[in-house]
Amino acid sequence: MLDLLLPRRCIVCGAPRTLLCGGCRNGLPRLTPPLCARCGAPTVWPVVRCRECAGRRIAFTRARSATEYDASVRRLVRSWKERGLRSLGAAAALVIVERLPPPDADVVTFVPPDRGRRLERGFHPAEQLARAVAAAWGLPCESLLARIGGSRQRGLSRTERRRNVAHAFIGDAGGRRVILVDDVYTTGATAHAAARALRTEVEVVTFARATRTS
Ligand SMILES: [Zn+2]
Ligand SMILES: [Zn+2]
Repeated sequence: MLDLLLPRRCIVCGAPRTLLCGGCRNGLPRLTPPLCARCGAPTVWPVVRCRECAGRRIAFTRARSATEYDASVRRLVRSWKERGLRSLGAAAALVIVERLPPPDADVVTFVPPDRGRRLERGFHPAEQLARAVAAAWGLPCESLLARIGGSRQRGLSRTERRRNVAHAFIGDAGGRRVILVDDVYTTGATAHAAARALRTEVEVVTFARATRTS
């Protein structure tokens, strides 16, 4: 509702009649190669595993993101998720579809919400994103995961996050190849736990990705 009542201005440059103008959408920071072949982190040389993900168990095949999680993208994500400006979710989906090739997969799914979060917000941002991306890529979108713990990652260190989320999900993909969609890739702990629960080939696609510098 709020979305319809507020005067629309681009949240980056203030241009009227849109929450994210075409120019600012194209200007969102790209993650340019070379990237880690596995987790998608920007690297100096092409690598199979980078410093960030080497030596860690990673249940997904590959992770890719449409934009870097810098200050402007952080503001966009906050307006979308916390203020409930859903048309920013549609814009985020568009950025994914414009920038990332569709992975070879059978079905799209999403990271399920924290208990209570969906009620707080009235919508689930990751599901909104997954449904829009699936529609653009001509794939079905199904809810394949359920959360059994690991709520509230905010304020935890990287190690604490990993431990907190490790057994957070149960799921079943029926052996199909899955694209797991989420809004932001931070440590990869959530994506790993979700992919492990699905016990199949999982490619992770997120709108934004935190990097060591962002
Ligand atoms: Zn703009
Ligand atoms: Zn990596």
